Amino acid sequence: MSRSAHPAGPRHADVLPEGHYSAPPTDLNALDAKVWAETVTRDTDGVLTVGGIDVRRLAEEFGTPAYFLDEDDFRARARSWRTAFGDDADVFYAGKAFLSRAVVRWLHEEGLNLDVCSGGELATALSAGMPAERIAFHGNNKSTDEIRRAVEAGVGRIVLDSFQEIVRVAHIAQELGTRQRVQIRITVGVEAHTHEFIATAHEDQKFGIPLAGGQAAEAVRRALTLDGLELIGIHSHIGSQIFDMSGFEVAAHRVVGLLRDIRDEHGVELPEIDLGGGLGIAYTSDDDPREPHEIAKALTEIVTRECDAARLATPRISVEPGRAIVGPTAFTLYEVGTVKPLDGLRTYVSVDGGMSDNIRTALYDAEYSVALASRVSEAEPMLCRVVGKHCESGDIVVKDAFLPGDLAPGDLVAVPATGAYCRSMASNYNHVLRPPVVAVRDGEARVIVRRETEEDLLRLDVG
Ligand SMILES: *Cc1c(COP(=O)(O)O)cnc(C)c1O
Repeated sequence: MSRSAHPAGPRHADVLPEGHYSAPPTDLNALDAKVWAETVTRDTDGVLTVGGIDVRRLAEEFGTPAYFLDEDDFRARARSWRTAFGDDADVFYAGKAFLSRAVVRWLHEEGLNLDVCSGGELATALSAGMPAERIAFHGNNKSTDEIRRAVEAGVGRIVLDSFQEIVRVAHIAQELGTRQRVQIRITVGVEAHTHEFIATAHEDQKFGIPLAGGQAAEAVRRALTLDGLELIGIHSHIGSQIFDMSGFEVAAHRVVGLLRDIRDEHGVELPEIDLGGGLGIAYTSDDDPREPHEIAKALTEIVTRECDAARLATPRISVEPGRAIVGPTAFTLYEVGTVKPLDGLRTYVSVDGGMSDNIRTALYDAEYSVALASRVSEAEPMLCRVVGKHCESGDIVVKDAFLPGDLAPGDLVAVPATGAYCRSMASNYNHVLRPPVVAVRDGEARVIVRRETEEDLLRLDVG
């Protein structure tokens, strides 16, 4: 992924240190629409605004760091997935990307379904009124208590991830006098084109039951014999932040192959196939994600073609985008605390958050972009690393980015595309308080997840 280095502005040596940066943009004040939420723009004073509200006002009212989420953009993206797939397919939003009660209500209103993978996510979904039959329950080690709650609530499906779980869910459903609709998650031996820590369908990993060696077929055999289970389909999730559709093509081919074998062996045609999530978004200007309608068309064509070849009726398709819906809709707003130039290297810009509100850079070497938000500047670009306030040198938010050379303490900077896997992976490292999520729409901003307080921390500390 390494890109060519280019000469930087006057504050740095001719040869830049190694890194993942492109040339300094010609206009640092320009906003690339690809990486920013739909309503983000600069007002006439050059201040970043979202939903018509200026970030200086937002910072004053809600403090920093904070995530600002463009509600209209979220709804529009959810809707475009829904309409792209139409009535013959189901879109399940992956709650782990970011879940709150407001989000659950938006999804419900926009006609989407919801994936959860823990008791906490299930409780959030149910408490915000998501009908249980529109919830899918995932995870490679659901506790018996979680399974019981999910079955009792009447979730639409449980995605089975191991042989033990097949038996466990069957027993619990029988005990409760019901038949649980289930899918079996298989691994199809596809490695998505993405960072290895977030690729999940090659076989040497904890998720799913391998297709290879006949394990998946054996899982189907067992599930079909258990009274507590109604096997409705096969599930495959091949990775995350994927741009290349060829992984889905191979996955669909193999899943449909299994459906054909199931028909041949058992005389049953399973009615559903779930191709998971993992569709990529633009974190920087170098990323070129596809539109939901292109993805829907491609996936539907692949599955239909494979089923025709196997002489199977095309099953109902479901998909599980998380990042692709919520990721682009939010940015994190930080205040700059210190600016530390290191001669011949780069300038370290410390902000008032860090790995506690965005662990992805440290965890996956993820790339982000950043912009000066509280004003525009005509200063020369300087090569920066935006870092947090934690006691960890890997506490990096944006590894390599150009910011104006006159950046100073008190400036606000915004990191776009932080809607997914940032607040949901946030921690209290260093007893830092997790930031709020503020939804902005039509000139109004409201907190949907409040900022943590020191009382919240001390309440848990009962020693
Ligand atoms: C993580 C995950 C998703 C969502 O992935 P995104 O990259 O956010 O689209 C969907 N399905 C399953 C089973 C997952 O584990």
